[in-house]
Amino acid sequence: MKGWAAVSDFDGTITLRDVGDHLLLHYGFSDKETIEASYSLKVRVENFMKSAFAGARLTEDAIAGFVRGKVRARAGFREFILFCGASGVPLEIASGGVDLYADPFFKMHGVKVRSFFGRGRVVKGGIKITYPFLKLMDLSSFKASRVRRLKRAGYRVVFFGDGPNDFKAAQLADKVYAAGRLLKLCRERGIAASPLTDFRKAAAFIRKNTASPTPDS
Ligand SMILES: [Mg+2]
Repeated sequence: MKGWAAVSDFDGTITLRDVGDHLLLHYGFSDKETIEASYSLKVRVENFMKSAFAGARLTEDAIAGFVRGKVRARAGFREFILFCGASGVPLEIASGGVDLYADPFFKMHGVKVRSFFGRGRVVKGGIKITYPFLKLMDLSSFKASRVRRLKRAGYRVVFFGDGPNDFKAAQLADKVYAAGRLLKLCRERGIAASPLTDFRKAAAFIRKNTASPTPDS
């Protein structure tokens, strides 16, 4: 057993609100009903993102400014990233979100993390999003595949998420921290999950559940 690894969603998990939704609502490129409908288990988040942002006339600078002014991080996320780095816990982020807002977010917090985000390009009339890592599967299966991969490599995996598209990954993980719709879904379907409030709790959990090596081994 190699110890623990971590996989996390970004929007609504590392951030307190879904940044994509927040941006679309703030600038009037979508409405609450459309966004609510995008959370159905039947909707592919990546398709929603592509179509919702196709008409979002925003510049890279406007998005970066929005991130700096309006996007709040969940408590303890930076400490958790630093903890993982210092403790040899592989950590990665698998997200249906976009680099245009993720990059300024991580830059602002001064951390670098292995991550998978959609690629956003400002084009005429809006933003074109592509998902180079989703050639073979949908986002929800991709997230699950990242958990599966680490488990096959011998890790126990802690997963963090908040949305229905995180449910497949949560089902495979050894420990789940869930917020919002994911927490509700886990409870309805009998998947053990702790409420995600502060990432420092996960660091404490990993520390507590990592056996210290015995002197002779
Ligand atoms: Mg999310």
